[in-house]
Amino acid sequence: MDFNDSSEEAAFRAEARAWLEKTLGPPASRATMKTEGDVIKASKAYQAKKAAAGYVGLTWRKDVGGRELPPIFQVIFSQEEQKFQAPVSPFGIGLGMCIPTVIAFHSADKIKRYVGPALRGEEIWCQLFSEPSAGSDVAGLKTKAVRDGDDWIVNGQKVWTSGAHYCDYGILLVRTNPEKEKHKGLTMFVVNMKAPGVEVRPIHQMSGGSNFNEVYFTDVRISDSERLGEVGNGWNVALVTLMNERLAVGGSAGPEYGEILELARNTPSPSGKGSLLQDQAFREKLAGWYVSAEGYTLGKYRTMTALSKGQTPGPENSIGKLLNANRMQDLANAAIEGEDHFGIISDPAVAPLQGAFHNAYMWAPGLRIAGGTDEILRNIIAERVLGLPQDVRVDKGVAYKDLPTGR
Ligand SMILES: Cc1cc2nc3c(=O)[nH]c(=O)nc-3n(C[C@H](O)[C@H](O)[C@H](O)COP(=O)(O)OP(=O)(O)OC[C@H]3O[C@@H](n4cnc5c(N)ncnc54)[C@H](O)[C@@H]3O)c2cc1C
Repeated sequence: MDFNDSSEEAAFRAEARAWLEKTLGPPASRATMKTEGDVIKASKAYQAKKAAAGYVGLTWRKDVGGRELPPIFQVIFSQEEQKFQAPVSPFGIGLGMCIPTVIAFHSADKIKRYVGPALRGEEIWCQLFSEPSAGSDVAGLKTKAVRDGDDWIVNGQKVWTSGAHYCDYGILLVRTNPEKEKHKGLTMFVVNMKAPGVEVRPIHQMSGGSNFNEVYFTDVRISDSERLGEVGNGWNVALVTLMNERLAVGGSAGPEYGEILELARNTPSPSGKGSLLQDQAFREKLAGWYVSAEGYTLGKYRTMTALSKGQTPGPENSIGKLLNANRMQDLANAAIEGEDHFGIISDPAVAPLQGAFHNAYMWAPGLRIAGGTDEILRNIIAERVLGLPQDVRVDKGVAYKDLPTGR
């Protein structure tokens, strides 16, 4: 394992940091973004500047607007961007998952049509996979597309579609052949989110936000020229998207060991003796988070070393999200409990770290589900990392139409 930047990587990091400082200024300048509209506007403006400066599509082919740099350069840029709290969230799904799938499977003229506007932040994309009865088992989805001349007609419902209410395009996984096994009768399309028959209904969350949606499709026409890959090959196309998703959602976005240590130092112990830091039970928890965070960091260095050598990280990457999402929830819960009755105050003007522990507490359950639930990740780790026997799969070799789905 090599923990240090090579001289070329160090030079790129310094250059990126200088550009971020010049372009974004200190992170505090973005604390004024109150509404989702503000965030989208600021994110689009930032993305346009980033594209003009050549910091987009770092690892992508040059003919699609990329720079063909090794993946480690994307890791370095993202690390620096995170330090400046760059407004990038609306583009995570599009540029992290949808557009790489478009590049891998769409026609040359469509790649030209979609990639540039996405890289410049002019168009935002969403991922339309999950359905009310198809999440972990997404290949069991019901939304269907039926061929009609040069078009397909789509009917059905998606759910948990992040950002659908402000997106321009999406990648849509549908069933085109119910006679085949569930994984083999699927096809992927690009869908215009403003097309007639597409109805987006926001879902209100316990955090007060409305990040994701139900999306209904009623006789939506999609041209066959918007198909990604072969008819019936949608599962393999989706695997490319999902592989990118696991890498994209691995990191923790909440307060970490350093922040809770500081809180414990400055918060009275419930016993009334000294600070929370002197509380034996709390010290044990602190030690656990420290070990988990350090373990994750060392695992990440291993991934970075693999990327640096041009290798593709494997299923062991599922460990990162599993550890981080659980640590985030546990740590935020302990921070709020540790503050005793003050813990109910989430107002950023008063709460520690501008309410970051409360935000993490609300966000962590979602993170434990998005991009693969804890149980699914444990199955992956058990089967593909540790080589344990496979989970029982009762639907192998059965046509989708013969599965007992309760229809
Ligand atoms: C914040 C967030 C953002 C999301 N964004 C999107 C998006 O943009 N686009 C999109 O398409 N989807 C999105 N999703 C949906 C997400 O992919 C699904 O919620 C996820 O795959 C789980 O599916 P489910 O909710 O249907 O739960 P289910 O699959 O019904 O799972 C229910 C429970 O059963 C367990 N379980 C299921 N199968 C197994 C098994 N084989 N072994 C053991 N336990 C099992 C699960 O772990 C879980 O605890 C998002 C979800 C969240 C939380």
